[in-house]
Amino acid sequence: MTANCTQNRGLLCPAAFPPIVAAACEGRPNIYLMALPKTWMKAMQTVRNRKSKKLNTKHIEIVRDVSTLRAKVREWRQNGETIGLIPTMGALHDGHLALVKAAQRTCDRTVTSIFVNPTQFAPSEDFESYPRDEADDIAKLDSLSADIAFMPGVADMYADGFSTRVAVSGLSEGLCGASRPHFFGGVATVVTKLLLQALPDRAYFGEKDYQQLQVVSRMVRDLDIPSTIVGVPTVRESDGLAMSSRNWYLSPQERTVAPTLHNVLRDVAARVAGGEDCASAIAAGRAVLETAGFGPVDYIAVCHAESLEPLDRVDGPARVLAAAHLGRTRLIDNVPVK
Ligand code: AMP
Repeated sequence: MTANCTQNRGLLCPAAFPPIVAAACEGRPNIYLMALPKTWMKAMQTVRNRKSKKLNTKHIEIVRDVSTLRAKVREWRQNGETIGLIPTMGALHDGHLALVKAAQRTCDRTVTSIFVNPTQFAPSEDFESYPRDEADDIAKLDSLSADIAFMPGVADMYADGFSTRVAVSGLSEGLCGASRPHFFGGVATVVTKLLLQALPDRAYFGEKDYQQLQVVSRMVRDLDIPSTIVGVPTVRESDGLAMSSRNWYLSPQERTVAPTLHNVLRDVAARVAGGEDCASAIAAGRAVLETAGFGPVDYIAVCHAESLEPLDRVDGPARVLAAAHLGRTRLIDNVPVK
């Protein structure tokens, strides 16, 4: 079975196809297709279109404006294909690519947006210096045979006079929302726009940004946006550090210290799972971070896994989350309490 066939679910799921169709997938004579029911013919046409598209162009399609994106999405929908959206700010690493692969496993088509969103940065933050490498991002997406890289400009996303902001109260206010009060409003607004622009069946977000995943899930539910939000587990370096575009900022010495954040989270999770009260486990974790050279530590918290309400003791689904500065880099991470 070809990669194209195995990567697609639903209509193109290999398990749903008898051997004769599998043979056709592998490029056997078209005469086999003549005997197939109409719906299967359509599915096979889709496979062949995708194959020839790859053979002819080999390259991901770069789209920079909303009307072209909508036209492509409309065309896919008319072919009965499903669409997965992966919102990113670029500087792509294996964590981002895990989202693209997850989307490819469950959707026929992927739109990966790359947009460094100014409204989620405070004036004092790193919007200007945020790592950008368009050519490398495109090469990485191309190597996965992703379909579209949607790369709008700031003026396309925020036209003159733009004056709307989406706010998710409660969930957005604690944890990262406390030290970055502008952040989730910016995220909620840009994700709403991206969802309305691409109208995907599913949109993929990393558990690495766990509060963001909960905020977006709640927003989509509250606003009846017809897309399913899918969380993807955090991808880590071999020493446990969560992959992040901001890891580029770490000096070699800071890079050796950075995995301490994950170790502390795991330790706090083990302690509270074993019955220790959250406050004492958090205090111990904070001390380890500060001794290792982190500071300031914005927070370490043990929270309910969905509402993100802080817990005194764990007696249900829970998550340990932290944000701490290491030199000029602000690192965040989280782990489940098992
Ligand atoms: P960003 O480009 O940092 O805005 O991230 C775009 C998406 O990739 C978000 O949904 C992040 O949660 C996700 N992401 C970033 N780093 C990782 C990682 N190490 N593992 C899994 N997902 C990630």
